[in-house]
Amino acid sequence: MTAEEALKWVEQRFGATAAIASSFGLEDVVLLELASKHAPSVKVFTLDTGRLPAETYELIDRLRERYGVKFETFFPNTHAVEELVTGKGHFSFRQSVELRKECCGIRKVEPLSRALAGRAAWVTGLRREQAATRAAVEVTEQDAAHGGIWKINPLAEWTQRQCWDFVKEHHLPVNALHQQGYPSIGCGPCTRAVKPGEDVRAGRWWWESPDHKECGLHLPAPDGGTK
Ligand code: SF4
Repeated sequence: MTAEEALKWVEQRFGATAAIASSFGLEDVVLLELASKHAPSVKVFTLDTGRLPAETYELIDRLRERYGVKFETFFPNTHAVEELVTGKGHFSFRQSVELRKECCGIRKVEPLSRALAGRAAWVTGLRREQAATRAAVEVTEQDAAHGGIWKINPLAEWTQRQCWDFVKEHHLPVNALHQQGYPSIGCGPCTRAVKPGEDVRAGRWWWESPDHKECGLHLPAPDGGTK
């Protein structure tokens, strides 16, 4: 299935019961443009961790205006964040993988479960080429981590070059941090620019081993697949 075919399938099969998860990175911009043409009923949501860079918020509002779409925004549970920061400070995630996963759990994973509640399917901008942890991503999967709902990754087979060519061809706005050496953008304190030749996600949680670099939103199935 091409990306266009995958999105048309989502539109026909799931319509408004499906949602695109967007963090407004390069792939998400491509996905929004494709979905505006091929899956217009599908909703778009984003997880606002409270630690996003200003450049991401600026892009969100530009895209909101461009597409006339209200992005459903999910914040972390207030009490959980208050307890985390009060007890462990603002940078506990740098102390260990466990503490990093605790922060991602509160700020991303729990809000995602609320964002997906009642959905039949979700759509992501995952690409196999992005990281070792994403090498087995399929265009269509069933997401065991979220009750077996469908997970569609229309750009699974795309390269980074293809994404940039698409953005240029369609004159799409992108996160200003991309021009400053950030190929992958997450929370401000957990993302840095990468050096030429480094892995696309080398700037995400750069103090950790590449094998751990997932925030818990996209978990592999127990058998090693990406269900
Ligand atoms: S990416 Fe960093 S700041 Fe954001 S939720 Fe994960 S650990 Fe917390």
